[in-house]
Amino acid sequence: MPRKYVYSFGEGAAEGRDDMKGLLGGKGAALAEMTNAGIPVPPGFTITTTACTLHRELGTIPAEVSRQIDEHLAVLEQRMNRTFGDADEPLLVSVRSGAKVSMPGMMDTVLNLGLNPEAVRGLAESSGDPRFALDAYRRFIMMYSDVVLGVERSRFEAVMSSARRKARKQTDSQLSAKQLEKVVTAFEKIVLDRTGEPFPRDPRVQLRGAIEAVFGSWDTERARRYRKLHDISDALGTACNVQAMVFGNRGERSATGVGFTRNPATGEREFYGEFLQNAQGEDVVAGIRTPRLLVELEAVLPEAYRELQDIALRLERHYGDMQDFEFTIEEGKLFMLQTRTGKRTGIAAVKVATDMVDEGLITREEAVIRVEPVQLLQLLHPVFDPAARAEHEVAAVGINASPGAACGRLVFTSDDAVAEAEAGNEVILVRHETSPDDIHGMNAAVGLLTVTGGMTSHAAVVGRQMGKPAVVGCESLRINAAREQLEVGGHTVERGDWLSIDGTTGEVILAEVGTMPSEVVQVVTGELDPAKSTIFAGFQRLLEWADLTRRLRVRANADTGPDAEVALALGAEGIGLARTEHMFFGADRMPKMQDMILARTEAERRKALRRLLPLQRRDFIALFKAMSGLPVTIRTLDPPLHEFLPNPTELKVEIEVMKATGKSKGQRKADYEARLAELEAIYERVLSITEINPMLGWRGCRLTILVPEIIEMQARALFEAAAKCISNGVSVDPEIMIPLVGDVGELRRQREVVERVAKEVEAKLGVHVNYKIGTMIELPRAAVTADKIAEQAEFFSFGTNDLTQTTFGFSRDDAGKFLGRYVDEGILPRNPFVSIDREGVGELMRIAVSKGRAARQGIKIGICGEHGGDPQSVGFCHDLGLDYVSCSPYRIPVARLAAAQAVLHERGVEELRTRARRNLRYKTPPTYHDTALGHDA
Ligand code: ADP
Ligand code: MG
Ligand code: MG
Repeated sequence: MPRKYVYSFGEGAAEGRDDMKGLLGGKGAALAEMTNAGIPVPPGFTITTTACTLHRELGTIPAEVSRQIDEHLAVLEQRMNRTFGDADEPLLVSVRSGAKVSMPGMMDTVLNLGLNPEAVRGLAESSGDPRFALDAYRRFIMMYSDVVLGVERSRFEAVMSSARRKARKQTDSQLSAKQLEKVVTAFEKIVLDRTGEPFPRDPRVQLRGAIEAVFGSWDTERARRYRKLHDISDALGTACNVQAMVFGNRGERSATGVGFTRNPATGEREFYGEFLQNAQGEDVVAGIRTPRLLVELEAVLPEAYRELQDIALRLERHYGDMQDFEFTIEEGKLFMLQTRTGKRTGIAAVKVATDMVDEGLITREEAVIRVEPVQLLQLLHPVFDPAARAEHEVAAVGINASPGAACGRLVFTSDDAVAEAEAGNEVILVRHETSPDDIHGMNAAVGLLTVTGGMTSHAAVVGRQMGKPAVVGCESLRINAAREQLEVGGHTVERGDWLSIDGTTGEVILAEVGTMPSEVVQVVTGELDPAKSTIFAGFQRLLEWADLTRRLRVRANADTGPDAEVALALGAEGIGLARTEHMFFGADRMPKMQDMILARTEAERRKALRRLLPLQRRDFIALFKAMSGLPVTIRTLDPPLHEFLPNPTELKVEIEVMKATGKSKGQRKADYEARLAELEAIYERVLSITEINPMLGWRGCRLTILVPEIIEMQARALFEAAAKCISNGVSVDPEIMIPLVGDVGELRRQREVVERVAKEVEAKLGVHVNYKIGTMIELPRAAVTADKIAEQAEFFSFGTNDLTQTTFGFSRDDAGKFLGRYVDEGILPRNPFVSIDREGVGELMRIAVSKGRAARQGIKIGICGEHGGDPQSVGFCHDLGLDYVSCSPYRIPVARLAAAQAVLHERGVEELRTRARRNLRYKTPPTYHDTALGHDA
């Protein structure tokens, strides 16, 4: 028996089920399933994805596949009682693509196939409507020429619009048969001119061409790009559906449309969609005519409307998820043409999932598995007021690096950003790119926009970390720093002008578009009563269900008390990374830090450190208080010292300017000499600590081993803070984390210092503090010698940013130059700075986990790199058996959900779904007014 490549809709009892999607594609499977359930679907057949793969390999449709197609075509002719190419009763079909995963609008479809001049005459007679027949034909020529013959659509559209103009008509459907006849002649001429051959008349030739084009459309550039973006495998291929046509363009009792069983933007349970009277499917999306709201169909074609609503709800109940469907009404009779899981916003995803649990449609576990973790971010970021957004034009589009909407005055430097923010203005910081020097400006800005950089650029990473909208890599921007101007697509704007960016879409708008903080954030920050927000209620419920399921703990990367409070409100169970260096960037601290670095002797250095100690202690107290007893991991100083000193080039310029002018701004002569000497000293020191490769240089424990006064001060601040909290009745659970350890000897040295200070503080204050000492695992050597390191460490935390850099030997800040290409060309499946590289970095983690646990039973192991908030990486950490993940505060909900999903995947999601499957022939179909569903009650 040859393999089966073609299936009639509904053929065989099992056909069309979810598990057939791989073979029949989502569209084919749904058409089959609806057919089996007795829902009106025009008959047809599906050519499998396997046939597509063969076609891709051989470059042609194999003979056996062609044979099976002919066989099924004959069956279809019989069922329809029409013949392909017949002059009296011609069979017309659509040829539709449809892959396993829906790729809306990415591939091609041809309607009205089978028409030629004789068949048009036949159709005109059998329908009694020559205008309709010609309308179908002109559509077919245009679509077929575009999809199969490669003739530009615009040429045909030009003919149509000139025909409308000549006839003084607004829409295509108002053109008469006579006028359409002229259009058809013009169309045929275009084809002859462009291809050198007349438009094909033989329906079998047409069919073969269309099937090959549908298979071929799997490999178009845009389809590839879409797959890359959504992580869909190129190997899947598309199925091809050949289906008898039904006509929504047969007069006013005919219509076509698309709909959703719920509102895909808000998740509200309402019948939502659009339709057009006297039109074919493609008209609705093409935007030539403005469609009407689906609810208005009730007045136009009440019976069909009610049947449609009934079917839509049955479908939703059957699939247990919001459906996005296509339909056509031919002279009052309804046909379903497609149904699939509807795409939705984050807000809608949460609402639909939680509502469906209340309605008894799905289980809590299904609700948890269904919402995409990153979609939750949309509930946290400020939003554009939709009405305000609609009024403006998009000036440029960059990479949507950090979601949310932001609107403010344009500034070009971080200092300006701070000054404006202090004056009470909201600003968007526009930079060519950002660097650690810009942290203060980024912190002051409401949104970030850069010309270069990708999803892991500094601006993108920090933007997400801070929960700030960011659009990066917007290459069409031109910054003129000298004039403080920005050029975008022919417009020029200046410092202080309004600018709006949408980090969810990457759009840049040169105007003030009103935004508002999201409801969830308003609740989290205490501005909104939780009882007043249904969005928050859904968010909270879904995450509570996730918490009941997950095994991984979730902590936050947070450096300040306020950050920690937000993290806690979003569900953090501790702090996995408090970066102490961030505490030294403020205006009151930086000079003291610089004094410490510039000190010539240990005594001088200690003096400077003594001035930093109270500030550091205050920071720690704030963290401990905010987390009241939850674990707080504090990392000792990590970056190289030069990050705290001014840029040497700028310094040199300042010095030279001072020398040339003999003065410095606003200062007396006496001060001038002192200032100049100071600047020169700083300059010398900056030069002396400048490194060729600071990332691999004198930083982390390498620095604090040679300058132990620093870690001593930090440990003292920590223990004094802990003791103070304990005395005040606040419990604490501090964990001291030493960065950049490659050898156990380094950790041993640091441990000695910390333990000594702990004893000193205890003795002095008379308070006992429980604490742990551990290390980051962020160097390959640390991972492979984890057994040795575990002897000195009570916990490990994977610093996967550095571990990725050092494993690949990529500098994250420079990888932008080639990583994009690597991913595009498939050298790497994805950016390893976004999602953990399981084979390499992941393998090192696996080694570290097993060696670490073998050497020290019960050693606590977590991750604190950016990956801790990436759902795929969270899944990996679950599989590795880590104890916790730590991520930026706004990523905590993402991690909670992803951690729960990891458990559900382990248990087998398919099984969950099958268990929840409902019978499509539901006895008493639900309605939108059914209070039994608990919705309207
Ligand atoms: P896409 O996947 O891009 O939505 P489809 O294959 O669904 O493409 O087809 C595009 C349009 O053509 C849809 O609006 C659909 O409803 C319409 N269509 C497809 N097949 C038929 C048919 N047999 N009869 C009438 N309209 C059809
Ligand atoms: Mg469709
Ligand atoms: Mg590191």
